[in-house]
Amino acid sequence: MSTFEVHDVDALANARAIMNLTESPREWAGEVVKAVDRNAEWRGKSCLNLLAPEAPTSPTVRRLLSSEIGTRAAEGHIGRVNRWFAGTQHIDEVEALCVELLKTAFRCNYADHRLMGSMLGNLAVYHALTEPGDTVMTASQPFGGHSSNRHDGPAGFRGLNIVDIPYNPETLEVDLDEFAKLGRQVQPKIVVMGMSMTLFPLPVREMSKICDEWGGKFIFDGAHQAGLIAGKQFQDPLNEGAVILTGSAGKTFSGPQSGMLMWNDPDLTEALTDAVFPVLVATHQVNRVAALAVAAAEMVEYGQFYMGQIVKNSKALAKALEERGIRVLGASRGYSESHQVIADVRQFGGGLEVAHRLAEANIVTNKNLIPGDQPEDWDRPSGLRIGTIEVTRLGMREADMATIAEFMARVLVKGEDTKSVQKDVLDFRLPLQDFYYNFDHGMPGWAQ
Ligand SMILES: *Cc1c(COP(=O)(O)O)cnc(C)c1O
Repeated sequence: MSTFEVHDVDALANARAIMNLTESPREWAGEVVKAVDRNAEWRGKSCLNLLAPEAPTSPTVRRLLSSEIGTRAAEGHIGRVNRWFAGTQHIDEVEALCVELLKTAFRCNYADHRLMGSMLGNLAVYHALTEPGDTVMTASQPFGGHSSNRHDGPAGFRGLNIVDIPYNPETLEVDLDEFAKLGRQVQPKIVVMGMSMTLFPLPVREMSKICDEWGGKFIFDGAHQAGLIAGKQFQDPLNEGAVILTGSAGKTFSGPQSGMLMWNDPDLTEALTDAVFPVLVATHQVNRVAALAVAAAEMVEYGQFYMGQIVKNSKALAKALEERGIRVLGASRGYSESHQVIADVRQFGGGLEVAHRLAEANIVTNKNLIPGDQPEDWDRPSGLRIGTIEVTRLGMREADMATIAEFMARVLVKGEDTKSVQKDVLDFRLPLQDFYYNFDHGMPGWAQ
């Protein structure tokens, strides 16, 4: 028997050992529930979650995620004739509301709500707009790009010839002159900017205009920035030349983890929606769709304030970190116009070490490649990515960011014992258990 395993073998062995303690499937199920509860207690209530791709959902969104409608099957497009199954009239109501709410939130003509994640959203775009063998230009990972647009993800799966968008490694900005030169030479069918490390708006107008020269299309993969875009706190790619905006609903958009597709041109509708159904989904989790619809309504009502405070908190956190001796990127441009702060932590042992040390103090972040790192530094990069979505939704503002920076500096700069910092993190975090900017709790008290 082969012993090849992609997962951590000790983690699987632990699970097996737990199962070997009993022959009772009921107890096995109980162990699953207990692990879920442990996570809710620790990550849900006791941690400062500063992971950039993560957002807490509102009580209503959570409730809908376990609702009865999630057990129903509704393949296909909305409407009596379009569905394969009868009995879907209320599901049609929910889905139609979701589509219209997404269109309102993103100020666009078309939206699709059915994909489980942005990986699939990007795959839908590649399926709809390219043929195997076509050339595309996308952002590479050391620049902040994402695997979904690279050889190892959906773009590669489509069999595309992928050319890197040139960038300046010092400033992490697109090198527009080089882009124009290389673009004219290879004439990519589509150009996809998808940034997982994202501090400032991208030159969408300039790049789209250059693509026009050879009839290329510009796609904005806004997985991370979707909430900021809906809340009008970033750029508005669909009004700046992008023909499609893709987004993950579980990042700044603060909804259930989902993929969203937004566009304006009716000529794209058939190809894009054909890629959704029947290519990528059949049943598409209508509970998730209902939750997404409510998250979109929350964005329309609260997005501007919520996302505005997220950006203020990023700037404040970056400044407070720098004042305490932790170097932060983007100082000359005000550190950040997004939900992210990128710190250079090589003097404290690098991103991997630092992220794990901070987690011992209940502060959750992730390692990240930064300028100066090589692609092969992937496992042990020099940077740390920090996000302000969750702490903002808990009602925190600028002064609280100084408190968080102080916790981090005690671990990293002063070398304090992580257990003693963890104690103070708990005292700070435990009283804060309500999520704001939603219809359950409205705005935080200080903002009303
Ligand atoms: C997170 C991310 C994705 C993938 O999103 P999922 O919703 O997790 O599938 C795609 N593109 C970029 C740029 C991302 O950061």
